[in-house]
Formats: sequence, structure tokens, C-alpha cells
Amino acid sequence: MDLLVIGGAGFIGSVVAGQLLAAGHRVTVYDSLVNGHRAAIPDGADFVHGDVLDLDALTRTLSRGFDGVFHFAALSLVGESVAEPGRYFRTNIGGTVNVVEAMRATGVNRLVFSSTAAVYGIPDCVPIPETAPVRPISPYGASKLAVDTFLGFAAEAYGLGAVSLRYFNVAGAWDRFGEDHRPETHLIPLALQVALGRRPHLAVFGNDYPTPDGTCIRDYLHVEDLGVAHQLALAAAEPGTHRIYNLGNGAGFSVREVIETARRVTGHPIPTVEAPRRAGDPPVLVASSERIREELGWQPRKPDLETIIADAWAWMQAYPQGYPDE
Ligand code: UDP
Repeated sequence: MDLLVIGGAGFIGSVVAGQLLAAGHRVTVYDSLVNGHRAAIPDGADFVHGDVLDLDALTRTLSRGFDGVFHFAALSLVGESVAEPGRYFRTNIGGTVNVVEAMRATGVNRLVFSSTAAVYGIPDCVPIPETAPVRPISPYGASKLAVDTFLGFAAEAYGLGAVSLRYFNVAGAWDRFGEDHRPETHLIPLALQVALGRRPHLAVFGNDYPTPDGTCIRDYLHVEDLGVAHQLALAAAEPGTHRIYNLGNGAGFSVREVIETARRVTGHPIPTVEAPRRAGDPPVLVASSERIREELGWQPRKPDLETIIADAWAWMQAYPQGYPDE
């Protein structure tokens, strides 16, 4: 198939683009390179340098003809979204409306969208099923929920076949593709940067959450397993329908447990300092991924936190400064 990967120079997008190429598809990456890296674009992919807020560029690109679109390009930092809600709503909602309008104008009708566990806010029960109430507590989560709602209407109105994948916490590495955010804000890469000696210590955001050790609990999924789910999702995208699937392992680890595991994997002490809670963080987010397991036969192959961190560590040791500067 001929596939467009919007945001294919970012962490998850580059892994999915690489996996699609490895599966024999033709891949075009569309990316603004604002947060993505030129060096993360897989060899063998065509590249279009463009922004999701540029409807004309998107429409021109899509008019070349594609069998499906993966849309990863978004702003994704919970804390930053609390400070800059306008930027998050404009890019995440406006950008996706542009993607869908460009698809409609060019007759491309299958879309896989990166949604998030942040749509659920503070859940009543865990693991969280897709039927749980959606009450985001951050502008980031609210922006992704608005897109999920929009995709339901677009499926009906335009005959779009859309699948929203609600990611929990994604980490690890695949092939030569790993996590390199600038600035880095995610727990696992930050812990590994401390182990590498790039930072003196790691801040633990909040120690008074209603959890056994007082730190937030999250569900960490290997990016390789997440990537595989995207291929299943595209195959399941039926024109005129919108499906929603959670993607996680179904097991939660606290911030302290993640740090302990990173210490074991790296053999480094990883000093920590206690810090205040970060705005917008719910205490516990753990996925029920029963729906995608049952309907699409998805099964994580690397559910173990130690493997996830070991793969991220191997990548970080190979690229201690991240991707080479553009
Ligand atoms: N976290 C932390 N220190 C850090 C970065 C993150 O304690 O330096 C915590 C954060 O508050 C959250 C968890 O680690 O509870 C995972 O955060 P991350 O930013 O990795 O992912 P998110 O849950 O925001 O998608």
C-alpha cells in the first residue's frame, strides 16, 4: 500500500514508518521537523517538509494518492498544555481537521489517529475500558478528545474510516529509532539520561498521590508493540465508521518502581529529588486493552517493563546525544 505518515519524524511516527517499510509498503513522511528529527526519517521513505496547519500543503501532498494516513503530528506534553491551551487546541484540533479535510478533498478515506489515555482524566476504576467516562483534566487530553469526537462525525458525514488509538505511556526503541525529545520531559528517557551522566538527578513529581508509594502510576507499553497495533488498525478502518481502542499493557508501575527498574537495568544509582506535583497529572492511568485484543487480535510481545527500559537504554547508549543535529 501507499501510506502517508504525518509526524513520521517523531518517536512513534518514525517507528511506525520504519515498520511499514519493513512490511513492504510505500511510505511518505510528512513532518514540520519542529519536534521531529530529519535523521529519524526511515531510509526508503519519501519526505515532505510541511506543517499540519498548512491545509494547502496537506492537500497537495495527499493529491498524489494514498491508501491510508497515519496522523501522529501533535503537541503532546500535559504540563505544557496547561500553560499553553491555545497552542494545543490550534495544533491538535485544527491540525487534524486539516488532515481530514485534505483527505476528503483528495478521496483518501482511511485514517489511524494518535489519541491518548489523557482523555479519561481521573478514572473511577482501573484498568480503564474504552466505555469509561471521558473527563480530561488537561488541555492536551481535551484537545485529543475533541478530535475523537470530530472523527465520529467525520466518519458519518464524509464516509471516513477512522481508528483512534488511545495510547497510555509509550517507551522503548525499535531498530535504529528511539526517543529524543528536546527538551526531554518523559520519565524513562530522563531516568536514562541521568544514568548516562547527562543530568545530575531525576525529579519525582509529587509523593502524596493516593497510590501505595505516593507517586503516579502509569501503564508503559513498548513502542514496537504500539507500532504493530497501527497496522492492525489500518486494516480494520472501514469507511463510514470510527473505532476507538486503548493501547497499554494493563499493568501499572509507579514513578518509584520505574526508577528502581531503570537502576537495575543500567546499574547506575540514578539519584532523585522530590518535587511538587506536575499540573494535569492524574494519579493512576492503567489500560484495559481487551477490545483491541479481542477485535483485532493484538497481543503485546514485549510487555515487561525491564525489556522496555533495556531497549530504550540500548538505543540511548548507541545515540548518547540523541539523533545527530540537522
Ligand atoms: N515524572 C516525574 N519526573 C519527571 C518526569 C515525569 O516524576 O521528571 C512523572 C510524571 O509526573 C508522571 C509519570 O512520571 O506521573 C510519567 O510522565 P511522562 O511525562 O513520562 O508521561 P505522561 O504520563 O505525561 O504521558
